Amino acid sequence: MKYIGAHVSASGGVENAPLNATAIGARAFALFTKSQRQWQAKPLTTDNIDKFKQNCEAGGFAPEHILPHDSYLINLGHPDPEKLEKSRVSFLVEMQRCEQLGLKLLNFHPGSHLKEISEDECIKRIAESINITLDKTSSITAVIENTAGQGSNIGYRFEHLAAIIDQVEDRQRVGVCFDTCHAFAAGYDLVGDSESLFEPSGFEPVFAEFDNIVGFKYLSAMHLNDAKSTFGSRVDRHHSIGAGNIGREMFEKLMKDPRFDDIPLVLETIDDTLWPEEIAWLYSCTE
Ligand SMILES: [Zn+2]
Ligand SMILES: [Zn+2]
Repeated sequence: MKYIGAHVSASGGVENAPLNATAIGARAFALFTKSQRQWQAKPLTTDNIDKFKQNCEAGGFAPEHILPHDSYLINLGHPDPEKLEKSRVSFLVEMQRCEQLGLKLLNFHPGSHLKEISEDECIKRIAESINITLDKTSSITAVIENTAGQGSNIGYRFEHLAAIIDQVEDRQRVGVCFDTCHAFAAGYDLVGDSESLFEPSGFEPVFAEFDNIVGFKYLSAMHLNDAKSTFGSRVDRHHSIGAGNIGREMFEKLMKDPRFDDIPLVLETIDDTLWPEEIAWLYSCTE
């Protein structure tokens, strides 16, 4: 079964996120458990936590289908030791908030080398950051997102994801979130009719490559985004489903493919007024 939703607002309290997800016809959702642009956050109250759990139950959302996303300020591969430490502390707080909410996953962008250290050195720091925080928590899986490779972001090659996973000690608690826009912008031709920067090209070959290098067993979630960015541009610009350079056909294939069953499939498309329609259309493709 497919579990489709969107990254909904948690404004006014985390307990509002499942209500917002219910309102758009979602079976899965993503949220920020704190402001994504601030380091500090008010601790969750028992009231927040109880209501969040109640609203999730009422909406039929299981923890496996809820995909919290960490703050954009966190860089788990930061070249500067003090800033790296700040990111690690903050990432641990995010994991602990997820645990308090009874959640299982935490989605994050791997990190950036800021042109000060090599990609390999950055990858090593990211894996170390994951190891440190997994050690201090017990039930959360660290879900690494592939990136468009904008700026000095790591994670635009499947090999980066594989190298991080390879250095994680507890592989039961590491996973991957595959963002379709990011993959396309990074040079993975999911459509099959672009001038490929990298082999492979086409829906099946790209996912065969993903399976080969990363492994479907690590696929814990997906972000379903069409791309305003052009193929291989390494620019991160999402678009509504069918309005961008990926097009509806690729999403139709995804919906019919059982390899993407039972994980949260989350829209981060740019026009939230279209989410009910996008979700309904995606579900209609599964029939
Ligand atoms: Zn994403
Ligand atoms: Zn993005």
